[in-house]
Amino acid sequence: MRRTRIAIAALAVAGPIHAQARTLPQAVRNYVSVDAPVVAITHVKLVDGTGTPAKNDQTIIIRGEKIASVGPFGAATVPADARVIDGTGKTVIPGLIGLHDHMYYSGMQFMGVSYPRLFLGAGVTTIRTTGSVDSYQELNLKRRIDSLLTPGPNIVVTGPYLQGAGLGPGAMHPLSGTEDARRMVRYWAEEGVTWFKAYTQISRADLAAAIDEAHKRGVKVTAHLCSVGFREAVALGIDQLEHGLLTNTEYYSGKQPDVCPQADDSVMYGALDVNSPDVQRTFREMVAHHVAMTSTLDVFELSSPSRIPRDQRVLDALYPAASASVAQFYESGKSAKDSVHRATLKKSMEFERAFVKAGGLLGAGSDPCCISAIAGYGDQRNYELLIEAGFTPEQAIQIMSANGAKILGFDKWLGTIQPNMQADLVLIGGDPVRTPGDIRNTEIVFRRGIGFDSAKLRESIKGLVGLR
Ligand SMILES: [Zn+2]
Repeated sequence: MRRTRIAIAALAVAGPIHAQARTLPQAVRNYVSVDAPVVAITHVKLVDGTGTPAKNDQTIIIRGEKIASVGPFGAATVPADARVIDGTGKTVIPGLIGLHDHMYYSGMQFMGVSYPRLFLGAGVTTIRTTGSVDSYQELNLKRRIDSLLTPGPNIVVTGPYLQGAGLGPGAMHPLSGTEDARRMVRYWAEEGVTWFKAYTQISRADLAAAIDEAHKRGVKVTAHLCSVGFREAVALGIDQLEHGLLTNTEYYSGKQPDVCPQADDSVMYGALDVNSPDVQRTFREMVAHHVAMTSTLDVFELSSPSRIPRDQRVLDALYPAASASVAQFYESGKSAKDSVHRATLKKSMEFERAFVKAGGLLGAGSDPCCISAIAGYGDQRNYELLIEAGFTPEQAIQIMSANGAKILGFDKWLGTIQPNMQADLVLIGGDPVRTPGDIRNTEIVFRRGIGFDSAKLRESIKGLVGLR
């Protein structure tokens, strides 16, 4: 058992598997529209993930699991044996990397059937689960997807939440001290998880012990903080921080050590200036210690129903009772008095822009936990929200792809559309650079060179989200 585990871990580090010929089982073929040794996408607009301006009329050639070449149509030679896809009027972006993409929806129920297909169909080809409610289910699902037995994204499995003493919700184990923190990290690292997420009530001492134990095993730690401030966590050696501003309590005058303050967001952040020395100091320390941040604007937006666009696809994906309550939620937006929350959302956007301006590395994730924020569609909403925050469309894509790859340590083989990178890319109908909402028109999602049919994946999970 141990030997197998090590082999899987080694593969994950080494990068893509170079299968010669592959035979896909029916369970996967049902959702595949392109499976050819050589594929050429011609005349397509390209956003390559590097942040550089989009290029028109490009040809992308995929050979096996890798991107073979990328260039202007006139300069490219399309191999005679290539399956040619005319990309006129369409756009290609890298497969999205969701850094806060749980495998559970409301009630912390594991969505092992609907979420993998929903992520993939929406163009999210890699997820980090960032707080797991069932790490064994995630590890098993990951192995099935890696072996091409079922469709889904590449999964970076996180251990169960590292939560402080007291009442942890649902599947969380409340830590009883530093030895307990080390024991938990040790156990799950040996089982094969590669990240942990610390949570809102953890103490500095327990967090320090968990980080130390994880790093001894080459495993990383991120956190949704509250009891510990960003700068404190950076000093303890944390690798990443989730959610951005609304989980950083260090600017609040009433903050007590190791205690999550019970103050309204408007009290804690209302008057905060993201250019103040205090905030800039946080950014400086994060940058100096290479601590990246994950933007999850779509889940912050849930507090402002008045500005959330109704998405029929979300209503279709949810099981009937959940769908009815989200329909009500959309309806409530028409009369919601949520200007205070809207202002806090704006402040979060400013915080993220200022972090990047200060040299910070920003990734993104959807936190598909609740109400209308569900797998894949939440990530697509993030694209619009990052543009609203002031990033260019090309930067927003970079945050959602290449930056994610960098944070996960995958950037040598994943996250951009360049020769020799793994062929994880998304063909979109329309032009999301000009019309951000076009990001929803995913047509074919390539993962490891296999083209999955977005519509079929979407169709197959109708009514399932919230159930399984
Ligand atoms: Zn979360």
